[in-house]
Amino acid sequence: MLLRMSTLLLRTLREDPADAEVPSHRLLLRAGYIRRAAPGGYTWLPLGKLVLDRVTEVIRTEMLAIGDQEVHFPALLPAEPYRISGRWTEYGDDIFTLADRKGAEHLLAPTHEEMAALLVKDLFTSYRDFPVTLFQIQTKFRDEARPRAGVLRGREFLMKDAYSFDLDEAGLQAAYDRHREAYQKIFERLGLDFTVVHAMSGAMGGSASEEFLAPTPVGEDDFVGCTACDYAANTEAVVTPAPAAGDLDAHPAMEVHDTPETPTIASLVELANTRGLGGRRDWTAADTLKNVVLTVRRPGVEESELLVIGLPGDREVDLKRVSAALAPATVEVFTDWAEQTELVRGYIGPQILAKLGVRYLVDPRVVPGTAWLTGANEPGRHAVDVVCGRDFTPDGTIEAAEVRPGDPCPACGTGELTMRRGIEVGHIFQLGRRYTDAFSVDVLGPAGKPVRPTMGCYGIGVSRAVAAVAEQHHDDRGLVWPAAIAPCDVHLVAAGKGPQLDAALDLGGRLAAAGLRVLVDDRTHVSAGVKFTDAELIGIPRAVVVGRRLTDGYVELRDRAGGERVEVPLDGLVERLVDEVRAARGAGV
Ligand code: ATP
Ligand code: MG
Repeated sequence: MLLRMSTLLLRTLREDPADAEVPSHRLLLRAGYIRRAAPGGYTWLPLGKLVLDRVTEVIRTEMLAIGDQEVHFPALLPAEPYRISGRWTEYGDDIFTLADRKGAEHLLAPTHEEMAALLVKDLFTSYRDFPVTLFQIQTKFRDEARPRAGVLRGREFLMKDAYSFDLDEAGLQAAYDRHREAYQKIFERLGLDFTVVHAMSGAMGGSASEEFLAPTPVGEDDFVGCTACDYAANTEAVVTPAPAAGDLDAHPAMEVHDTPETPTIASLVELANTRGLGGRRDWTAADTLKNVVLTVRRPGVEESELLVIGLPGDREVDLKRVSAALAPATVEVFTDWAEQTELVRGYIGPQILAKLGVRYLVDPRVVPGTAWLTGANEPGRHAVDVVCGRDFTPDGTIEAAEVRPGDPCPACGTGELTMRRGIEVGHIFQLGRRYTDAFSVDVLGPAGKPVRPTMGCYGIGVSRAVAAVAEQHHDDRGLVWPAAIAPCDVHLVAAGKGPQLDAALDLGGRLAAAGLRVLVDDRTHVSAGVKFTDAELIGIPRAVVVGRRLTDGYVELRDRAGGERVEVPLDGLVERLVDEVRAARGAGV
């Protein structure tokens, strides 16, 4: 393949586009890989399409290698199966819905669990047909609340989604492990630094699930690691170790105190210590029980619900963790205080919540027998020795509190948590029978009795992966593609016109004939300096500069990543580059 810059649909940009917040977005735009076409919708320009195709091919090869079979579902689907599974309402505003000319409701699929389950039901009837795994690489649609950072979060994006069907748990576990391993190979081949973390399963339903996160400061997912063991989890999925329950009778009776002007935790702690509330002057925020009021909306339910969350006062509520815990319901901070007469803002205590019929969930640290300083449900008053299990009984626990670096590791108990940010590039789930139940997918079992298959699903954000690689592989001059997914193997720069241009085109022709992907900068109206700058911006692993020393039979070889430049004889260069590229491909990079 030989691409000529003189005719390529490409305009590199000198300036950073105003609306590009993150490096990958900025560079993919500036280097002419993508172009914004719609809100959350991007056109892949020729160079971008080459990268996207190479990423796709790596993924396809590894999926086929573990025996997955490729299919292609329609993206435009009738509402009915999604109504049956419940996801028509659960996905809420995140799905694009539309009506056809007869008024029948449709959607643009956000993922295809329903279709996969229905297809297997349609074609397979016996236990002998299993296990089977289907995959596709297809455009997905989601009406994201905040499309951002170019192809990192689009409303239309390319996903690889796979669906496994097994007859028992052991089969599902094996399919899950197979995909986990294949994903590791894929992301290694793509040149991505990644971490596999425990995850929440969100709106998909199901149990075990892990995400593949590419660490970078611009990622939208926070995740933790441990200083002592290999525990890693999305902060959404971090489980707070609960202390042992204490003795309910070990505390004095609850006592209410006047605490004027103490609507915040800090003001309360200060007053409690000044006054010596409960005979103590060592109060800290962690001794107080903070009660945060949220509004919860369940998909498809008109009325919203009040929810109060109780947590130690030294922690903030992390709304992302709350949302993950309550998905598919959505939550927001309660603001309608003018309408609220029963809850006293700044002085809420859990003592009255049961009587008011308000749901109360607590942080796992709030166990029976713990005593708290908390609101007394009257303006300017708080209560001490409010004991969980005696003075109030929560409706359950919730992982709502922020996770902080230095928190104890829930896995080993000895290490401390460290925190980083990452981009979710893949997600694997053990779904179970949610969808096979929804569509009564039953097949004949070995004993003549029907068996219901159990499902796993496995996603990779293909277009997002391109941006994630760009995020991890760039410098201040431009992109630095790993060889495995670079749009071309070699970037030839004709530094001058005449013989240098002729030689560059000749070399390009011979490299292309030898099977290499070549981009040749044959533009005659731009300076050599501009060509060098563009080559660095575009980020192809090696450049060959055909310049002044051509007269002696030499060209310059430039390594984009390391920056090395060496003069090499033109003679034998084709063989040398072919060997280099083959070696890189053979090594799977
Ligand atoms: P996120 O939490 O980032 O919204 P998700 O958990 O909703 O993603 P999944 O349903 O797990 O996404 O989809 C599988 C994969 O598709 C994700 O791991 C991610 O790489 C990719 N993906 C999801 N949403 C988008 C999007 N809006 N744009 C690009 N890629 C996406
Ligand atoms: Mg996910």
